[in-house]
Amino acid sequence: TAPTTAQIREQFLHFFESKGHLRLASHSTIAPDPTTLFTVAGMQPFKAQFMGAPARFEGAEGIHKRVTTAQKCLRVGDIENVGRTLRHCSLLEMLGNFSFGDYFKRESLTWAWEFLTSPDWMALDPSRLYATIYEDDQEAYDIWTQEIGLPADHILRFGADENFWPADAPLKGPNGPCGPCSEIFYDRGPKYGDDTWAEYADTRESARFLEIWNNVFPQFDRQEPQPDGTPTLAPLPFKNIDTGMGLERIATVVQDVYDFYSNDVFAPIVARVAELSGKPYEGPQSVSHRVVAEHIRSVSMVIADGVQLSNTGRGYTVRKILRRASRHAYLLGLHEPVLHTLVPLVVEAMGSAYPELVQNQARVTAAIRSEEERFLKTLEQGTQRLDTLLSKLEKGAVLSGDEAFTLYDTYGFPVDLTKEIAEEYGIGVDEAGYAESLERAQELARAGSKYGKSELFGGGASVLDDLAPTEFVGYDELDARSRVL
Ligand code: ATP
Ligand code: MG
Ligand code: MG
Ligand code: MG
Repeated sequence: TAPTTAQIREQFLHFFESKGHLRLASHSTIAPDPTTLFTVAGMQPFKAQFMGAPARFEGAEGIHKRVTTAQKCLRVGDIENVGRTLRHCSLLEMLGNFSFGDYFKRESLTWAWEFLTSPDWMALDPSRLYATIYEDDQEAYDIWTQEIGLPADHILRFGADENFWPADAPLKGPNGPCGPCSEIFYDRGPKYGDDTWAEYADTRESARFLEIWNNVFPQFDRQEPQPDGTPTLAPLPFKNIDTGMGLERIATVVQDVYDFYSNDVFAPIVARVAELSGKPYEGPQSVSHRVVAEHIRSVSMVIADGVQLSNTGRGYTVRKILRRASRHAYLLGLHEPVLHTLVPLVVEAMGSAYPELVQNQARVTAAIRSEEERFLKTLEQGTQRLDTLLSKLEKGAVLSGDEAFTLYDTYGFPVDLTKEIAEEYGIGVDEAGYAESLERAQELARAGSKYGKSELFGGGASVLDDLAPTEFVGYDELDARSRVL
Protein backbone atom coordinates (compact mmCIF):
# COMPACT_ATOMS: atom_id res chain seq x y z
CA THR A 1 0.00 0.00 0.00
CA ALA A 2 1.07 3.56 -0.70
CA PRO A 3 2.63 5.60 2.10
CA THR A 4 0.55 8.23 3.90
CA THR A 5 1.42 11.93 3.72
CA ALA A 6 2.90 11.70 7.22
CA GLN A 7 5.05 8.74 6.19
CA ILE A 8 6.33 10.54 3.10
CA ARG A 9 7.27 13.58 5.19
CA GLU A 10 9.13 11.32 7.59
CA GLN A 11 10.84 9.39 4.79
CA PHE A 12 12.07 12.58 3.18
CA LEU A 13 13.56 13.91 6.40
CA HIS A 14 15.03 10.52 7.18
CA PHE A 15 16.54 10.18 3.71
CA PHE A 16 18.39 13.47 4.09
CA GLU A 17 19.46 12.65 7.64
CA SER A 18 21.06 9.55 6.15
CA LYS A 19 22.98 11.98 3.88
CA GLY A 20 24.33 13.88 6.85
CA HIS A 21 21.65 16.57 7.22
CA LEU A 22 20.44 18.06 10.48
CA ARG A 23 16.66 17.92 10.80
CA LEU A 24 15.14 21.19 12.00
CA ALA A 25 11.54 22.00 12.90
CA SER A 26 9.33 24.07 10.62
CA HIS A 27 9.37 27.80 11.15
CA SER A 28 5.98 29.49 11.69
CA THR A 29 3.83 30.49 8.71
CA ILE A 30 4.58 34.04 9.85
CA ALA A 31 7.60 35.03 7.77
CA PRO A 32 11.01 35.17 9.47
CA ASP A 33 11.99 38.29 7.53
CA PRO A 34 10.01 41.32 6.34
CA THR A 35 10.17 40.67 2.58
CA THR A 36 6.85 38.80 2.74
CA LEU A 37 4.00 38.62 5.26
CA PHE A 38 4.00 34.84 5.32
CA THR A 39 6.67 32.21 4.88
CA VAL A 40 6.51 31.34 1.18
CA ALA A 41 9.42 28.89 0.86
CA GLY A 42 11.52 26.49 2.90
CA MET A 43 14.65 28.58 2.32
CA GLN A 44 13.30 31.71 3.95
CA PRO A 45 14.50 30.97 7.50
CA PHE A 46 18.02 30.35 6.13
CA LYS A 47 18.75 33.55 4.23
CA ALA A 48 21.50 34.53 6.66
CA GLN A 49 23.29 31.20 6.20
CA PHE A 50 23.09 31.53 2.40
CA MET A 51 24.62 34.98 2.75
CA GLY A 52 27.56 33.53 4.66
CA ALA A 53 26.57 33.55 8.35
CA PRO A 54 27.89 30.57 10.34
CA ALA A 55 25.50 27.61 10.06
CA ARG A 56 24.64 27.38 13.74
CA PHE A 57 21.13 26.50 14.85
CA GLU A 58 19.30 26.68 18.11
CA GLY A 59 19.29 23.38 19.95
CA ALA A 60 22.13 21.88 17.90
CA GLU A 61 25.79 22.09 18.80
CA GLY A 62 28.45 23.07 16.31
CA ILE A 63 28.25 23.94 12.64
CA HIS A 64 25.70 22.24 10.37
CA LYS A 65 26.18 22.93 6.69
CA ARG A 66 23.49 20.43 5.73
CA VAL A 67 19.96 20.92 6.97
CA THR A 68 16.58 19.37 6.13
CA THR A 69 13.07 20.59 6.98
CA ALA A 70 9.39 20.26 6.19
CA GLN A 71 8.36 23.91 6.13
CA LYS A 72 4.73 25.01 6.22
CA CYS A 73 4.25 27.84 3.73
CA LEU A 74 1.38 30.13 2.85
CA ARG A 75 1.05 31.35 -0.74
CA VAL A 76 -1.87 33.65 -1.39
CA GLY A 77 -0.59 35.55 -4.42
CA ASP A 78 -2.45 33.19 -6.72
CA ILE A 79 -5.16 32.06 -4.34
CA GLU A 80 -7.83 32.25 -7.05
CA ASN A 81 -6.10 29.17 -8.48
CA VAL A 82 -6.91 27.14 -5.39
CA GLY A 83 -9.86 24.88 -6.12
CA ARG A 84 -9.64 25.61 -9.86
CA THR A 85 -6.28 24.07 -10.66
CA LEU A 86 -5.62 20.73 -9.10
CA ARG A 87 -2.08 21.61 -8.06
CA HIS A 88 -2.30 24.77 -5.96
CA CYS A 89 -2.82 24.95 -2.23
CA SER A 90 -2.72 28.12 -0.16
CA LEU A 91 -1.04 26.20 2.64
CA LEU A 92 1.64 23.84 1.49
CA GLU A 93 4.36 21.87 3.16
CA MET A 94 7.67 22.29 1.42
CA LEU A 95 10.12 19.44 1.92
CA GLY A 96 13.63 20.81 1.62
CA ASN A 97 17.30 20.01 1.83
CA PHE A 98 19.83 22.81 2.16
CA SER A 99 23.56 23.13 1.77
CA PHE A 100 25.38 26.18 3.08
CA GLY A 101 28.58 26.16 1.08
CA ASP A 102 28.87 22.39 1.34
CA TYR A 103 27.63 20.12 -1.49
CA PHE A 104 26.35 21.56 -4.76
CA LYS A 105 24.53 20.57 -7.96
CA ARG A 106 25.82 17.03 -8.40
CA GLU A 107 24.70 15.79 -4.99
CA SER A 108 21.50 17.79 -5.04
CA LEU A 109 20.29 16.36 -8.34
CA THR A 110 21.51 12.81 -7.84
CA TRP A 111 19.97 12.60 -4.35
CA ALA A 112 16.68 13.99 -5.62
CA TRP A 113 16.73 11.31 -8.30
CA GLU A 114 17.58 8.62 -5.77
CA PHE A 115 14.80 9.65 -3.42
CA LEU A 116 12.21 9.73 -6.20
CA THR A 117 13.14 6.55 -8.05
CA SER A 118 14.76 4.16 -5.56
CA PRO A 119 12.50 1.19 -4.66
CA ASP A 120 13.49 1.89 -1.04
CA TRP A 121 12.07 5.40 -1.17
CA MET A 122 9.40 6.79 -3.52
CA ALA A 123 9.83 4.13 -6.21
CA LEU A 124 8.51 6.35 -9.02
CA ASP A 125 8.89 5.13 -12.59
CA PRO A 126 12.01 6.94 -13.92
CA SER A 127 10.58 7.11 -17.44
CA ARG A 128 7.87 9.45 -16.14
CA LEU A 129 10.33 12.03 -14.82
CA TYR A 130 11.33 15.20 -16.68
CA ALA A 131 13.47 18.20 -15.82
CA THR A 132 13.86 21.84 -16.70
CA ILE A 133 17.15 23.73 -16.44
CA TYR A 134 18.27 27.34 -16.72
CA GLU A 135 19.13 28.16 -20.34
CA ASP A 136 22.91 28.20 -20.12
CA ASP A 137 23.36 25.79 -17.22
CA GLN A 138 25.51 23.22 -19.01
CA GLU A 139 26.67 21.79 -15.69
CA ALA A 140 23.10 20.81 -14.73
CA TYR A 141 22.52 19.46 -18.24
CA ASP A 142 25.59 17.23 -18.03
CA ILE A 143 24.66 15.90 -14.60
CA TRP A 144 21.13 15.09 -15.77
CA THR A 145 22.16 13.42 -19.01
CA GLN A 146 25.56 11.86 -18.27
CA GLU A 147 25.44 11.01 -14.60
CA ILE A 148 21.76 10.40 -13.98
CA GLY A 149 20.94 9.18 -17.47
CA LEU A 150 17.88 11.33 -18.12
CA PRO A 151 17.19 11.29 -21.87
CA ALA A 152 17.86 14.63 -23.60
CA ASP A 153 14.25 14.80 -24.78
CA HIS A 154 13.12 14.82 -21.13
CA ILE A 155 14.85 18.15 -20.56
CA LEU A 156 13.74 21.68 -21.39
CA ARG A 157 15.66 24.93 -21.00
CA PHE A 158 13.96 28.09 -19.83
CA GLY A 159 15.05 31.63 -19.03
CA ALA A 160 15.03 33.46 -15.73
CA ASP A 161 11.23 33.71 -15.70
CA GLU A 162 10.98 29.95 -15.05
CA ASN A 163 14.38 28.69 -14.03
CA PHE A 164 15.66 31.26 -11.60
CA TRP A 165 14.66 31.58 -7.98
CA PRO A 166 13.14 33.95 -7.11
CA ALA A 167 11.62 34.14 -10.59
CA ASP A 168 13.22 36.84 -12.69
CA ALA A 169 15.30 37.86 -9.69
CA PRO A 170 18.10 39.49 -11.73
CA LEU A 171 15.67 42.02 -13.20
CA LYS A 172 12.94 42.27 -10.61
CA GLY A 173 14.46 41.29 -7.28
CA PRO A 174 13.97 40.95 -4.40
CA ASN A 175 17.53 41.62 -3.27
CA GLY A 176 19.31 38.77 -1.51
CA PRO A 177 20.32 35.22 -2.30
CA CYS A 178 19.21 33.87 -5.68
CA GLY A 179 20.33 31.55 -8.42
CA PRO A 180 19.41 29.33 -11.33
CA CYS A 181 17.31 26.25 -10.68
CA SER A 182 16.35 22.89 -12.11
CA GLU A 183 12.81 21.64 -11.67
CA ILE A 184 11.59 18.06 -11.73
CA PHE A 185 8.25 17.19 -13.29
CA TYR A 186 6.21 14.00 -13.17
CA ASP A 187 4.13 12.82 -16.12
CA ARG A 188 0.74 11.87 -14.70
CA GLY A 189 -0.22 10.25 -17.97
CA PRO A 190 -2.78 10.60 -20.77
CA LYS A 191 -5.70 10.54 -18.31
CA TYR A 192 -4.81 14.17 -17.62
CA GLY A 193 -4.28 15.35 -21.18
CA ASP A 194 -2.72 14.39 -24.50
CA ASP A 195 -0.14 17.16 -24.49
CA THR A 196 3.56 16.33 -24.78
CA TRP A 197 6.66 17.46 -22.92
CA ALA A 198 7.93 19.23 -26.04
CA GLU A 199 4.71 21.25 -26.11
CA TYR A 200 5.26 22.31 -22.52
CA ALA A 201 8.05 24.56 -23.84
CA ASP A 202 5.31 26.77 -25.30
CA THR A 203 2.31 26.17 -23.08
CA ARG A 204 4.10 26.26 -19.70
CA GLU A 205 0.87 24.94 -18.29
CA SER A 206 -0.18 21.33 -18.09
CA ALA A 207 -2.49 19.16 -16.01
CA ARG A 208 -0.43 16.21 -17.11
CA PHE A 209 3.16 17.27 -16.40
CA LEU A 210 3.17 18.21 -12.73
CA GLU A 211 6.04 20.19 -11.22
CA ILE A 212 7.04 18.38 -8.05
CA TRP A 213 10.50 19.50 -6.97
CA ASN A 214 12.57 22.63 -7.44
CA ASN A 215 16.36 22.39 -6.99
CA VAL A 216 17.78 25.88 -6.60
CA PHE A 217 21.48 26.77 -6.81
CA PRO A 218 21.81 30.03 -4.86
CA GLN A 219 25.17 31.49 -5.74
CA PHE A 220 24.39 35.19 -6.19
CA ASP A 221 23.47 38.05 -3.93
CA ARG A 222 21.11 40.27 -5.87
CA GLN A 223 21.89 43.89 -4.97
CA GLU A 224 20.44 47.23 -6.05
CA PRO A 225 20.66 47.53 -9.86
CA GLN A 226 22.89 50.14 -11.51
CA PRO A 227 21.24 53.53 -12.12
CA ASP A 228 20.71 52.48 -15.77
CA GLY A 229 18.84 49.36 -14.63
CA THR A 230 21.62 46.83 -15.22
CA PRO A 231 21.11 44.01 -12.69
CA THR A 232 23.77 43.55 -10.01
CA LEU A 233 24.48 39.95 -9.11
CA ALA A 234 27.39 39.68 -6.69
CA PRO A 235 28.74 36.18 -6.05
CA LEU A 236 27.88 34.85 -2.59
CA PRO A 237 30.79 33.80 -0.37
CA PHE A 238 30.08 30.20 -1.40
CA LYS A 239 27.68 28.13 -3.49
CA ASN A 240 24.54 26.83 -1.82
CA ILE A 241 21.73 24.37 -2.37
CA ASP A 242 18.09 25.07 -1.65
CA THR A 243 15.42 22.61 -2.70
CA GLY A 244 11.67 22.51 -2.26
CA MET A 245 9.27 19.69 -2.99
CA GLY A 246 5.56 20.13 -2.33
CA LEU A 247 4.44 17.39 0.07
CA GLU A 248 0.85 17.63 -1.18
CA ARG A 249 2.04 17.05 -4.75
CA ILE A 250 4.41 14.17 -4.07
CA ALA A 251 1.79 12.49 -1.86
CA THR A 252 -0.78 12.74 -4.62
CA VAL A 253 1.63 11.26 -7.17
CA VAL A 254 2.88 8.47 -4.91
CA GLN A 255 -0.63 7.56 -3.75
CA ASP A 256 -1.67 7.63 -7.40
CA VAL A 257 -4.91 9.48 -6.68
CA TYR A 258 -6.53 11.90 -9.07
CA ASP A 259 -5.72 15.13 -7.23
CA PHE A 260 -4.76 16.58 -3.82
CA TYR A 261 -8.29 16.34 -2.64
CA SER A 262 -8.30 12.57 -2.88
CA ASN A 263 -5.14 12.09 -0.83
CA ASP A 264 -5.19 10.95 2.78
CA VAL A 265 -5.10 14.50 4.22
CA PHE A 266 -7.90 16.08 2.22
CA ALA A 267 -10.22 13.16 1.39
CA PRO A 268 -11.84 13.02 4.86
CA ILE A 269 -12.48 16.79 4.82
CA VAL A 270 -13.95 16.69 1.31
CA ALA A 271 -16.14 13.74 2.33
CA ARG A 272 -17.40 15.67 5.34
CA VAL A 273 -18.23 18.71 3.19
CA ALA A 274 -20.19 16.42 0.85
CA GLU A 275 -22.00 14.86 3.78
CA LEU A 276 -22.88 18.18 5.44
CA SER A 277 -24.13 19.73 2.21
CA GLY A 278 -25.69 16.63 0.72
CA LYS A 279 -23.86 17.57 -2.50
CA PRO A 280 -21.57 14.87 -3.90
CA TYR A 281 -17.99 15.76 -4.76
CA GLU A 282 -18.43 15.81 -8.55
CA GLY A 283 -19.10 18.10 -11.47
CA PRO A 284 -18.61 21.87 -11.59
CA GLN A 285 -19.73 22.36 -7.97
CA SER A 286 -16.74 20.31 -6.77
CA VAL A 287 -14.63 23.48 -6.91
CA SER A 288 -16.53 24.53 -3.79
CA HIS A 289 -15.69 21.33 -1.90
CA ARG A 290 -12.07 21.91 -2.76
CA VAL A 291 -12.00 25.55 -1.73
CA VAL A 292 -13.65 24.77 1.61
CA ALA A 293 -11.38 21.79 2.37
CA GLU A 294 -8.20 23.57 1.38
CA HIS A 295 -8.95 26.90 3.02
CA ILE A 296 -10.05 25.48 6.35
CA ARG A 297 -6.66 23.82 6.61
CA SER A 298 -4.66 26.97 5.87
CA VAL A 299 -6.79 29.25 8.02
CA SER A 300 -6.55 26.83 10.97
CA MET A 301 -2.77 26.68 10.68
CA VAL A 302 -2.24 30.42 10.40
CA ILE A 303 -4.54 31.20 13.33
CA ALA A 304 -2.78 28.49 15.35
CA ASP A 305 0.47 30.34 14.56
CA GLY A 306 -0.97 33.39 16.30
CA VAL A 307 -2.49 35.52 13.55
CA GLN A 308 -5.68 37.27 14.62
CA LEU A 309 -8.36 38.23 12.13
CA SER A 310 -8.25 41.91 11.37
CA ASN A 311 -8.57 44.42 8.59
CA THR A 312 -4.87 44.87 8.02
CA GLY A 313 -1.87 42.84 7.05
CA ARG A 314 -1.82 39.15 7.90
CA GLY A 315 -5.13 39.24 9.73
CA TYR A 316 -6.78 40.61 6.62
CA THR A 317 -5.28 37.89 4.46
CA VAL A 318 -6.76 35.25 6.75
CA ARG A 319 -10.10 37.03 6.64
CA LYS A 320 -10.01 36.99 2.83
CA ILE A 321 -9.27 33.27 2.74
CA LEU A 322 -12.02 32.55 5.25
CA ARG A 323 -14.59 34.64 3.42
CA ARG A 324 -13.77 32.94 0.16
CA ALA A 325 -14.38 29.61 1.93
CA SER A 326 -17.62 30.92 3.45
CA ARG A 327 -18.94 31.90 0.08
CA HIS A 328 -18.16 28.47 -1.37
CA ALA A 329 -19.83 26.73 1.58
CA TYR A 330 -22.84 28.95 0.92
CA LEU A 331 -22.81 27.97 -2.75
CA LEU A 332 -23.10 24.36 -1.59
CA GLY A 333 -26.24 25.31 0.28
CA LEU A 334 -24.58 25.55 3.70
CA HIS A 335 -26.18 28.72 5.04
CA GLU A 336 -25.27 28.21 8.70
CA PRO A 337 -21.73 28.43 10.10
CA VAL A 338 -20.05 25.08 9.40
CA LEU A 339 -16.43 25.79 8.64
CA HIS A 340 -15.45 25.70 12.30
CA THR A 341 -16.89 22.18 12.61
CA LEU A 342 -14.20 20.99 10.17
CA VAL A 343 -11.32 22.05 12.43
CA PRO A 344 -11.15 18.66 14.24
CA LEU A 345 -10.52 16.97 10.85
CA VAL A 346 -7.63 19.34 10.20
CA VAL A 347 -6.22 18.63 13.65
CA GLU A 348 -6.55 14.93 13.08
CA ALA A 349 -4.70 15.07 9.76
CA MET A 350 -1.94 17.49 10.74
CA GLY A 351 -1.84 17.66 14.54
CA SER A 352 0.87 15.09 15.12
CA ALA A 353 3.32 16.92 12.85
CA TYR A 354 2.17 20.37 14.02
CA PRO A 355 1.25 20.21 17.73
CA GLU A 356 0.43 23.94 17.68
CA LEU A 357 -2.83 22.90 16.00
CA VAL A 358 -3.71 20.68 18.95
CA GLN A 359 -2.70 23.27 21.53
CA ASN A 360 -4.72 26.02 19.90
CA GLN A 361 -7.72 24.06 18.68
CA ALA A 362 -10.26 25.83 20.90
CA ARG A 363 -9.02 29.29 19.99
CA VAL A 364 -8.87 28.46 16.28
CA THR A 365 -12.41 27.08 16.34
CA ALA A 366 -13.80 30.10 18.16
CA ALA A 367 -12.10 32.59 15.84
CA ILE A 368 -13.37 30.84 12.73
CA ARG A 369 -16.86 30.49 14.13
CA SER A 370 -17.24 34.15 15.01
CA GLU A 371 -15.91 35.26 11.64
CA GLU A 372 -18.32 32.94 9.84
CA GLU A 373 -21.27 34.17 11.85
CA ARG A 374 -20.35 37.72 11.11
CA PHE A 375 -19.86 37.31 7.39
CA LEU A 376 -22.95 35.16 6.88
CA LYS A 377 -25.06 38.08 8.09
CA THR A 378 -24.18 40.05 4.99
CA LEU A 379 -23.11 37.42 2.49
CA GLU A 380 -26.56 36.78 1.07
CA GLN A 381 -27.52 40.43 0.66
CA GLY A 382 -24.11 41.29 -0.74
CA THR A 383 -24.29 38.42 -3.19
CA GLN A 384 -27.73 39.51 -4.34
CA ARG A 385 -26.59 43.07 -4.80
CA LEU A 386 -23.54 41.98 -6.74
CA ASP A 387 -25.50 39.53 -8.90
CA THR A 388 -27.99 42.27 -9.76
CA LEU A 389 -25.23 44.70 -10.67
CA LEU A 390 -23.33 42.17 -12.71
CA SER A 391 -26.31 40.88 -14.63
CA LYS A 392 -26.95 44.45 -15.83
CA LEU A 393 -23.45 44.75 -17.25
CA GLU A 394 -22.25 43.37 -20.54
CA LYS A 395 -19.49 40.79 -20.76
CA GLY A 396 -16.15 42.59 -20.81
CA ALA A 397 -17.54 45.59 -18.88
CA VAL A 398 -16.06 46.88 -15.62
CA LEU A 399 -17.73 47.21 -12.23
CA SER A 400 -17.13 50.65 -10.76
CA GLY A 401 -14.69 51.18 -7.91
CA ASP A 402 -17.41 52.81 -5.85
CA GLU A 403 -19.58 49.72 -6.07
CA ALA A 404 -16.67 47.48 -5.17
CA PHE A 405 -16.01 49.71 -2.18
CA THR A 406 -19.66 49.61 -1.04
CA LEU A 407 -19.54 45.83 -1.26
CA TYR A 408 -16.50 45.87 0.94
CA ASP A 409 -17.66 48.46 3.40
CA THR A 410 -21.27 47.43 3.75
CA TYR A 411 -21.21 43.72 3.07
CA GLY A 412 -17.66 42.79 4.02
CA PHE A 413 -16.68 41.58 0.54
CA PRO A 414 -12.91 41.80 0.14
CA VAL A 415 -12.23 43.26 -3.30
CA ASP A 416 -10.56 39.99 -4.33
CA LEU A 417 -13.82 38.19 -3.70
CA THR A 418 -15.77 40.76 -5.71
CA LYS A 419 -13.23 40.38 -8.50
CA GLU A 420 -13.52 36.63 -8.48
CA ILE A 421 -17.32 36.69 -8.62
CA ALA A 422 -17.28 39.36 -11.34
CA GLU A 423 -14.87 37.21 -13.33
CA GLU A 424 -17.43 34.40 -13.29
CA TYR A 425 -19.62 36.81 -15.29
CA GLY A 426 -16.74 37.83 -17.53
CA ILE A 427 -16.70 41.28 -15.92
CA GLY A 428 -13.75 43.23 -14.53
CA VAL A 429 -13.48 45.49 -11.48
CA ASP A 430 -12.08 49.02 -11.49
CA GLU A 431 -9.42 48.38 -8.88
CA ALA A 432 -7.84 51.81 -9.11
CA GLY A 433 -11.27 53.32 -8.50
CA TYR A 434 -11.76 50.97 -5.56
CA ALA A 435 -8.43 52.05 -4.09
CA GLU A 436 -9.46 55.71 -4.46
CA SER A 437 -12.78 55.18 -2.70
CA LEU A 438 -11.00 53.35 0.06
CA GLU A 439 -8.43 56.11 0.38
CA ARG A 440 -11.18 58.74 0.50
CA ALA A 441 -12.99 56.89 3.25
CA GLN A 442 -9.79 56.55 5.21
CA GLU A 443 -9.09 60.26 4.90
CA LEU A 444 -12.56 61.09 6.12
CA ALA A 445 -12.09 58.73 9.03
CA ARG A 446 -8.77 60.38 9.87
CA ALA A 447 -10.35 63.83 9.55
CA GLY A 448 -11.98 63.07 12.85
CA SER A 449 -15.12 62.71 14.75
CA LYS A 450 -17.14 65.39 12.98
CA TYR A 451 -18.13 62.63 10.60
CA GLY A 452 -20.13 60.02 12.40
CA LYS A 453 -19.37 56.55 11.19
CA SER A 454 -22.80 56.06 9.69
CA GLU A 455 -22.49 59.26 7.67
CA LEU A 456 -19.07 58.31 6.56
CA PHE A 457 -20.13 54.95 5.29
CA GLY A 458 -23.34 55.94 3.61
CA GLY A 459 -26.32 56.09 5.90
CA GLY A 460 -25.48 53.68 8.65
CA ALA A 461 -25.39 50.61 6.50
CA SER A 462 -21.95 49.64 7.69
CA VAL A 463 -22.52 46.47 9.64
CA LEU A 464 -18.86 45.79 10.16
CA ASP A 465 -17.53 47.53 13.17
CA ASP A 466 -13.98 48.01 11.96
CA LEU A 467 -12.96 51.43 10.80
CA ALA A 468 -10.84 52.40 7.87
CA PRO A 469 -9.36 49.22 6.48
CA THR A 470 -5.84 49.25 5.13
CA GLU A 471 -4.66 46.85 2.53
CA PHE A 472 -1.15 45.63 2.04
CA VAL A 473 -1.14 45.68 -1.69
CA GLY A 474 2.64 45.72 -1.74
CA TYR A 475 2.95 42.39 -0.02
CA ASP A 476 0.27 40.81 -2.15
CA GLU A 477 2.24 41.85 -5.15
CA LEU A 478 5.46 40.42 -3.80
CA ASP A 479 3.73 37.16 -3.11
CA ALA A 480 2.03 37.19 -6.49
CA ARG A 481 5.46 37.47 -8.00
CA SER A 482 6.42 34.28 -6.23
CA ARG A 483 3.89 32.47 -8.43
CA VAL A 484 6.54 30.94 -10.61
CA LEU A 485 9.27 30.87 -8.00
P1 ATP B 1 3.82 26.25 -9.77
O1 ATP B 1 4.57 26.63 -11.02
O2 ATP B 1 3.11 24.93 -9.90
O3 ATP B 1 2.96 27.35 -9.25
P2 ATP B 1 6.12 27.05 -8.31
O4 ATP B 1 7.11 27.04 -9.43
O5 ATP B 1 5.52 28.34 -7.94
O6 ATP B 1 4.94 25.99 -8.63
P3 ATP B 1 8.25 26.69 -6.37
O7 ATP B 1 8.29 28.08 -5.91
O8 ATP B 1 9.33 26.22 -7.29
O9 ATP B 1 6.78 26.37 -7.02
O10 ATP B 1 8.13 25.77 -5.07
C1 ATP B 1 8.76 24.50 -4.93
C2 ATP B 1 7.76 23.37 -4.91
O11 ATP B 1 6.70 23.61 -3.97
C3 ATP B 1 7.04 23.17 -6.22
O12 ATP B 1 7.83 22.40 -7.11
C4 ATP B 1 5.78 22.44 -5.80
O13 ATP B 1 6.01 21.06 -5.61
C5 ATP B 1 5.48 23.07 -4.45
N1 ATP B 1 4.48 24.14 -4.56
C6 ATP B 1 4.69 25.43 -4.93
N2 ATP B 1 3.56 26.16 -4.90
C7 ATP B 1 2.59 25.30 -4.49
C8 ATP B 1 1.22 25.45 -4.23
N3 ATP B 1 0.60 26.63 -4.39
N4 ATP B 1 0.53 24.38 -3.79
C9 ATP B 1 1.15 23.19 -3.62
N5 ATP B 1 2.44 22.98 -3.85
C10 ATP B 1 3.17 24.01 -4.28
MG1 MG C 1 3.61 29.03 -8.23
MG1 MG D 1 6.63 26.58 -11.49
MG1 MG E 1 8.95 26.05 -9.32
